[in-house]
Amino acid sequence: MKTWKSHALPQLPGVMPAIHLHETTAQRVVPLPESEPASLYVCGITPYDATHMGHAATYVAFDLLNRAWRDQNREVRYVQNVTDIDDPLLERAIRDSVDWRELAIEQTELFHADMEALNVLAPEHYIGAVEAIEWIVPEVEKLIAAGIAYPVTGTEGEPDGDIYFSVAAASAAAKVSGPDAPWWLGQISGLTEEEMLPVFAERGGDPQRSGKRHPLDALLWRVARDGEPSWDGGTLGAGRPGWHIECTVIAQRFLPKPFTVQGGGSDLVFPHHEMGAGHAFALEETTMARHYAHTGMVGLDGEKMSKSLGNLVLVSKLRAAGVEPAAIRAAILSNHYRTDWFWTQELLDDSEYRIERWRKALRVAPAGSGELLLAELRAALSQDLDAPRALAAIDAWATGALSATATVAPQLSEQDGLLVAEAIEALLGITL
Ligand SMILES: [Zn+2]
Repeated sequence: MKTWKSHALPQLPGVMPAIHLHETTAQRVVPLPESEPASLYVCGITPYDATHMGHAATYVAFDLLNRAWRDQNREVRYVQNVTDIDDPLLERAIRDSVDWRELAIEQTELFHADMEALNVLAPEHYIGAVEAIEWIVPEVEKLIAAGIAYPVTGTEGEPDGDIYFSVAAASAAAKVSGPDAPWWLGQISGLTEEEMLPVFAERGGDPQRSGKRHPLDALLWRVARDGEPSWDGGTLGAGRPGWHIECTVIAQRFLPKPFTVQGGGSDLVFPHHEMGAGHAFALEETTMARHYAHTGMVGLDGEKMSKSLGNLVLVSKLRAAGVEPAAIRAAILSNHYRTDWFWTQELLDDSEYRIERWRKALRVAPAGSGELLLAELRAALSQDLDAPRALAAIDAWATGALSATATVAPQLSEQDGLLVAEAIEALLGITL
């Protein structure tokens, strides 16, 4: 599928120091693996209600990582999917009486336009679930042959033949148990099975489905139902893939096994990333990613932001209302990516003011200030992508520049102003 366009990055003098990033499974900040090339998979949207502020914050956060790697002159391979066929998409299309394909295309295009506006570097491969079906089918067949996946007999009006991933068989295949095992249920989330069950039910799982061997077994292939779109599934029969296997197959096809970082919102830790890692192990006897990183949730004015509450803040709506995308990006970056935070009008107002102030300061940059600020930005970003600290450093630099002109006339430097603007563009993606 087509991806979006990104701006060329300015070349800065020097390089970013070693990058440290919070690791979900270890629950602490660790140095990132130095594997070459640096490879990143960020789980993409299901194309409806795009692009709400929670989406935007996630893709902007991992864009900082992408930019930090590029600042180290590393080759970066970045893949993102779009779940352009899934239950929530079909439900939305039925609710709004639109064709699911049109909804998916329209929302994917809107998402791309928002990403471009927010200056998020485009992934190298942007892959839809539908185009991945032909790669997914043989992998599911492989899991059945290995005894790790099995068909379920339909009851209560459901057809026969939905294929599920057996968590017990995958764990048994890992042979070793405990922390030395290559995979176990709970490896990514750290949750116990009792804790997993309600979360699984909330996030698209079906613990109650009769005929499954274990309530946490995840859907790999859903056979065709009347009124639902389906594709040729070879020996699986016509149907469509489950969500977790989609990401595993796409990542394994386009990235090293394992790849460096898998990212997404904290609501993807379980079951999505847990199961994806299980599928990857069952298919290739390797972990999916070397490092798992997750972003916090974004609310609105002190409340949870959700489609059911009808309070989604959409990037496209803000843009249509004339808000400058750089201010939206600065507002996102004023919160650390791992925190849960709230979008407010005040936050946006402050960000607009902040950017204007930076622009004024660029015109009166003191000589020698650019390289110092660049080093501070790199230090902040290399420590768990600490964008709030980076923004505070720019504020302090701007205060220095603006107050110096008010008192004594310092030596001004156009060169330094240019370097500061380029550093903010290249490292933070904010165009001044
Ligand atoms: Zn995913």
